[in-house]
Amino acid sequence: MAPTTKRSAVVASEAESLAKKPLTEEDPAVTLFRQYLRIKSVQPDPDYDSCLVFLRNQAQRLGLEHHTTEMVKGKPIFVMTWPGTDPSLPSLLLNSHTDVVPVYPECWKHDPFEAVKEDNGDIYARGTQDMKSVAIQHIEAIYRLKVLQKKKFKRTIHLCFIADEEVGGHDGMEKYVVSKEFKELNIGFALDEGLASEENAIPLFYGERNVFWVQFKCHGNPGHGSRFIENTAGGKAHLLMNKLLGFREEQKKIYEADESLNLGDVTTVNLTYMSGGVQMNVVPNEFTVGFDIRITPTTNMAEFEAQIMKWIDEAGGDIDVIFKQKFTDQTLTSVAKDDPWYQAFMRAANKHELEIAPRIFPAGTDSRYIREVGIPAFGFSPMNNTKVLLHDHNEYLNEKVFMTGIDIFVDIIAEMADV
Ligand code: ZN
Repeated sequence: MAPTTKRSAVVASEAESLAKKPLTEEDPAVTLFRQYLRIKSVQPDPDYDSCLVFLRNQAQRLGLEHHTTEMVKGKPIFVMTWPGTDPSLPSLLLNSHTDVVPVYPECWKHDPFEAVKEDNGDIYARGTQDMKSVAIQHIEAIYRLKVLQKKKFKRTIHLCFIADEEVGGHDGMEKYVVSKEFKELNIGFALDEGLASEENAIPLFYGERNVFWVQFKCHGNPGHGSRFIENTAGGKAHLLMNKLLGFREEQKKIYEADESLNLGDVTTVNLTYMSGGVQMNVVPNEFTVGFDIRITPTTNMAEFEAQIMKWIDEAGGDIDVIFKQKFTDQTLTSVAKDDPWYQAFMRAANKHELEIAPRIFPAGTDSRYIREVGIPAFGFSPMNNTKVLLHDHNEYLNEKVFMTGIDIFVDIIAEMADV
């Protein structure tokens, strides 16, 4: 038989065997993603031990050195390290959190920890968007670059898998960023989570709004419920609510009047807490009202706080202010055209013809702690044309979007590790 015939015979038999393969054959990266989703690392009692077993196996598969550290007992931080050819250069951090938020299983169409994949490729599980997808994309991108392509980069790359982001990061990233262990990583830039996008554009988060969770304990005169008591706790709470919710309406108008604005560009205020009173015919001497305020980072924080204090005076004074959360750092990461990190990121994005939309993150992530210690960080989760379902029922991600995300991260990491 002539060699050409032989070759075409081989090609034909390959084609035949390919045709026989079931259409549902799954990419091993998707299988790995689904395995990670099945670990119940759900608050308030996350199975971090199983995460560690899973991640150790991945470090071995990637041939990476790894270590586990804890700022608080039982809240592990797992780090894999790929040394660069110039270890003196600041490193690149790929960060993801291991925990996920609770579920109402009765509201889900599939078990939220089964990672069921529907025929169209939609994978349903808690953490598909927030943010086990990104964790596996980081791992798989490193697998391709290091194991398959045998690439080498100037900068060391650390992959960090951290606990407790979903409960505020106080026992995780907040303490980690000021630790000796973190400083030893010598991080020059961090990539962390973003959000899905229902449009084609993918948001690139370079800053976050400042969170104020503030309670006002209003003190006033008590008395009988049948009289006109002066200077009551209720009256003060009422005036304060008018001021704060009036400000809310102003911000809402600004937001609604300009289509180019995103939630991160305005300040939101919501009344989230009220308590007080003893019985129906008694005017109580105390009422507490609480607000969740998210302040856009272009705000002058000193002026904003002064405004709150002025409202307290106008409401009659004798009001205790209790901050349940108060984050005032306003550091933004550069998205200037001449910034070398941003340029590197955009070279990769352009290669994939991605539409990138730099934005302020409307809520909070661990990135705020990283930026606070002076390390630039982008929040980026490549999930476009996808319903935003983080923390929601029926959180899902399509496997094609997930796989495309790996391709994207391969180039982002390759560019940023060689800056
Ligand atoms: Zn998250």
